[in-house]
Amino acid sequence: MASITLKAQREKSLLRRHPWIFSGAIAKVHGSPHTGESVDILGADGKWYGRGAFSPHSQITVRVWTFNREEEVSPALFRSRLLRAVESRRYLLGKNDTDAYRLVNSESDGIPGLIVDHYGDFIVCQFLSAGTEFWKQTIINQLTELIPNTGIYERSDVSVRKKEGMPEHTGLLTGQEPPELVEIREGPYRFLVDIRHGHKTGFYLDQRDNRAIVAEYARNTEVLNCFSYTGGFTVAALKAGASSAINIESSAEALELGLRNVKLNGLDEAKVNNMEGDVFTIMRQYRDAGRRFDTIVLDPPKFAGSRGQLMRACRGYKDINLLAIKLLRPGGILFTFSCSGLVDKELFQKIVADASLDAGREAQIIRWLSQATDHPTSLNFPEGSYLKGLVCRIW
Ligand code: SAH
Repeated sequence: MASITLKAQREKSLLRRHPWIFSGAIAKVHGSPHTGESVDILGADGKWYGRGAFSPHSQITVRVWTFNREEEVSPALFRSRLLRAVESRRYLLGKNDTDAYRLVNSESDGIPGLIVDHYGDFIVCQFLSAGTEFWKQTIINQLTELIPNTGIYERSDVSVRKKEGMPEHTGLLTGQEPPELVEIREGPYRFLVDIRHGHKTGFYLDQRDNRAIVAEYARNTEVLNCFSYTGGFTVAALKAGASSAINIESSAEALELGLRNVKLNGLDEAKVNNMEGDVFTIMRQYRDAGRRFDTIVLDPPKFAGSRGQLMRACRGYKDINLLAIKLLRPGGILFTFSCSGLVDKELFQKIVADASLDAGREAQIIRWLSQATDHPTSLNFPEGSYLKGLVCRIW
């Protein structure tokens, strides 16, 4: 097997079982491993530290498969990792009458670069690393064996694949082509999911637990759902007895599907108002018109994709939070999220604090929110915690 030798001192992160090796940490590549092939990872002292997938085009040149010298990178490794990931999600189906969940969460489930989501009878995969691309057929075969399904669909249309030197790819991998929309169950809710064209793999499964929390506060309130996508939070709020909801979203298709979701749940679509456009602009118009709400959800897309974008991202978060705080009646509740991994909890709290100061409003944190429990974070891979949310009462 080919191998790499690390520069001196660069084995430290591996001793903490962090699965990434950056190109700058590598002193030498021995042999000529192909993209995605396994390599042994040796320290400057020649000691063995792990075995991982080689990705010469990526800044993350090796992603570790195993820290155990006895463990070969073989179908058996994938089988045991997949089995463990799948077993650990069984509680969801049993407990909550939920048939849509994340089955495999990449690094945090021991398979760096693999996302597997389950929607009703269908499975949707993203192969985001050279290593998962290399083992793709093995992974597909084993998913087919482990999880009864009607079809497995690929949604590797993600820009990170470019960093790995791989083209984007979508399409059916095995079984039947999914219908235009797949209906999923999530506890008391039903949603239509566009597996083929929707965002990510079709739906924001990571917000599942937070939909239930919004429902706790939404009864008899006027709700403003910003960046609403297909209306997950709107359905939860209306089902809990919200008196009305406005969706603001730039995608007309997402808004349209959101209305269908409202109807699917037996809710009154007359209570919903769709606003197609830019959240910043529309919230400013509401502010100028003196509009007020009791519950506001702010769930923007990732504003900070890289360190270079961080300052601008912080300004963006501050702007929308400032506007939202101004639009809330005294005693109203703000659900504010950031899915930028680079914006940590501390920074996010500071941004919201600055926004409330500038708005001249007092705010209390009621609780912290995070990604749903089927999106676990390995303690050795803190980067896996990307979604954070604050529930604040605004006075
Ligand atoms: N809250 C949603 C997920 C939001 S993802 C849910 O729970 O399902 C972010 C959404 O914001 C995307 O649907 C994207 O189309 C939309 N979006 C991005 N920028 C926007 C902008 N400036 N104004 C309005 N919508 C925007």
